[in-house]
Amino acid sequence: MNYRDFGKTGEKISALGFGCMRFPEYKIEEKSFVDQDKVDEMIAFAYENGVNYFDTAPFYCNQNSEAALGHAVKNFRNKILISTKCPIGNETTPDKYRENLERSLTRLGTDHIDFYHFWGINRNCFDNIIVANGLLEAAAKAKEEGLIRHISFSFHDDPSAIKHIVDTSEAHGVNMESMLCQYNLLDRSNEEMIKYVNEKGLGTVAMGPVAGGRLAAPTDLYSKLTGKPSIATYELAFKFCLGNPNLNCALSGMENLDMVRKNAAIASDNSSFSPEEWKQLGLAMEEVKKFSELYCTGCKYCQPCPCNINIPKIFEAWTLYNVYGLKEPAKKMMAKYVSDGGKTYNDCKNCGLCEKKCPQLLKIRENLKKVCKILCE
Ligand code: SF4
Ligand code: SF4
Repeated sequence: MNYRDFGKTGEKISALGFGCMRFPEYKIEEKSFVDQDKVDEMIAFAYENGVNYFDTAPFYCNQNSEAALGHAVKNFRNKILISTKCPIGNETTPDKYRENLERSLTRLGTDHIDFYHFWGINRNCFDNIIVANGLLEAAAKAKEEGLIRHISFSFHDDPSAIKHIVDTSEAHGVNMESMLCQYNLLDRSNEEMIKYVNEKGLGTVAMGPVAGGRLAAPTDLYSKLTGKPSIATYELAFKFCLGNPNLNCALSGMENLDMVRKNAAIASDNSSFSPEEWKQLGLAMEEVKKFSELYCTGCKYCQPCPCNINIPKIFEAWTLYNVYGLKEPAKKMMAKYVSDGGKTYNDCKNCGLCEKKCPQLLKIRENLKKVCKILCE
């Protein structure tokens, strides 16, 4: 297993982190249970193969994940890092924060949590709940008492909010120590902020390294990008994340032993991408996209469409299909978009507004027609 310095936390973190949101489950009379024997086996295998970062949350696996993880690690608890999260809602006061923390400690069967996250926050939640309700101070107090070792956050918002969260916390005298955010070969929007926070000394963890399974499909993407013999897209996706010199760990939600074995092998491989190769790959991804016949930057200037057609989303699916060769994931993405009520070319009233606003001067209507026909039929 490869290890990295986890920001300036003083910890060494394994390049692969174990995401505990997909433990095998079964049901008895509509009630869900985690298959503890299988979880014990998977977690023990991961630990024996060097994984030392295990990330759970109170609601994962029908609220059973924390207890299942606690059970699986009880013989080596102090040799690993446990990460879990505090749900933040309008009603979260310091007392509620403490209650959530104590519940997680009990479920995990431990007297401390190594990385305790403000869970899935955005700028609004940070300003109006975390800061306004004094939760930063509540976290600092819990740290002082040794109940948590490091204060962290997981993030879902526009990347610019990351800087605001980290800098504002610092101004309040409470340093964020690690960040968990979305990052993968297809979604690099947080890349600049990962660099920023890493330079400030935070540990950085990526969730979704295989883009929700979209990068699990077989393609010749690597060979297309580098001219070298292809490797599995899955492996490319992992190595791309791990090649980012500012990223400390890629978290994978593993659901069976085979997956743990496969991921542990990739994260232990010493043929990982060098920073230079990583940079070249990123550039090659952009180039391949840029020179495709339909280069949508995702800027959203064409939005809103009076018929509610999410043009950048549809063109994103087309990039997956046509540029990266991820045909099935692209079709699935469109099927989900449509089943969630998303509008397509069939709903277009041909007003032409979108084309007047597109800086890429794309023939949006013509392309929408073609793309929807291929991806939706
Ligand atoms: S031309 Fe069609 S897609 Fe473009 S803004 Fe008008 S309705 Fe929307
Ligand atoms: S304005 Fe053009 S480039 Fe920007 S998202 Fe819309 S279609 Fe894509």
